[in-house]
Amino acid sequence: MIKTMFAAAIAAGVSLAAVSAQAQTYPERSITIVVPFAAGGPTDTVTRLVAEPMSAALGQQVIVQNVAGAGGTLAAGQVAAAEPDGYTILMHHIGMSTAPSLYSALPYDPVEDFEHIGLVTEVPMTIIGRKDLEPTTLAELVEYVKTNGETVTYANAGIGAASHLCGLLFMSATETTPTEVPYQGTGPAMTDLIGGQVDFLCDQTTNTTGQIQGGEVKAYAVTSADRLPTLPDLETTAEGGLDMEVTVWHGLYAPAGTPDEIVQKLSEALQTALADQGVIDKFADLGTTPVAQEDATPEAHLETLTSQIELWKPIIEAAGVQPQ
Ligand code: ASP
Repeated sequence: MIKTMFAAAIAAGVSLAAVSAQAQTYPERSITIVVPFAAGGPTDTVTRLVAEPMSAALGQQVIVQNVAGAGGTLAAGQVAAAEPDGYTILMHHIGMSTAPSLYSALPYDPVEDFEHIGLVTEVPMTIIGRKDLEPTTLAELVEYVKTNGETVTYANAGIGAASHLCGLLFMSATETTPTEVPYQGTGPAMTDLIGGQVDFLCDQTTNTTGQIQGGEVKAYAVTSADRLPTLPDLETTAEGGLDMEVTVWHGLYAPAGTPDEIVQKLSEALQTALADQGVIDKFADLGTTPVAQEDATPEAHLETLTSQIELWKPIIEAAGVQPQ
């Protein structure tokens, strides 16, 4: 379903001139960014960090709303169906590119049903375990999961989440089948990991850096090609002998049919937010950086999304996953 600006205007019973006037005066009230996972998790953290400087840039409050469920696909479906007026937008991550390979009847098309505002950041993941989990290295963790099989539990944020994808890659690379424990987001998953209710988790550094540095969890590896300045002692998955690499890119989306002028205003506000020194510093503390200004644009976002959909398709297929 492609909703053009014209079709949206007709459907709403307003003229193109009215839509254009609306775009010129935008924004006249608060804007909601929908986060597809529970509060307190990494997607929520990234969103709240950019929401504040975006509010300043747009001159209106930017509110964050958590709509968790179905591995992030519930919120994406809601925003795809929202009024294309720029007042309801979505922050999502790599899951926008993996969901088409994981769900046979996804209620939205990540390319056609959205306007792509811009990329935000790309975040490495870390494989971590509860503090008292026996293994101390990645190689030992792999042996432990091989030996203990389904009695070992790993947390994720549902099918389509980055933590789910990382778990798939881990299981496929190690030929293991630990038991999956799904949460509404990795914020609550982290709480249970610290509490010792689950054994391990793979999650963005935006959710794990503080807990690793504070010794609240055991860290096994970072899933990026290189080690991180924030966690210099943590080996990479490759160094630990595991053939898997994944980093989690985030992007901002508006419903398809949102007028170009509005998408442009949102994109410019995102660029301003990403140039904010407070955001840069906070991202650095959490093991990431804002994307380059030219990537916080609709063109770069769409290009990344389409190439990532193609990239993940054969990898997910090779991991033996049957779409839901
Ligand atoms: N990091 C989570 C994921 O696995 C989601 C979240 O809570 O932000 O996709």
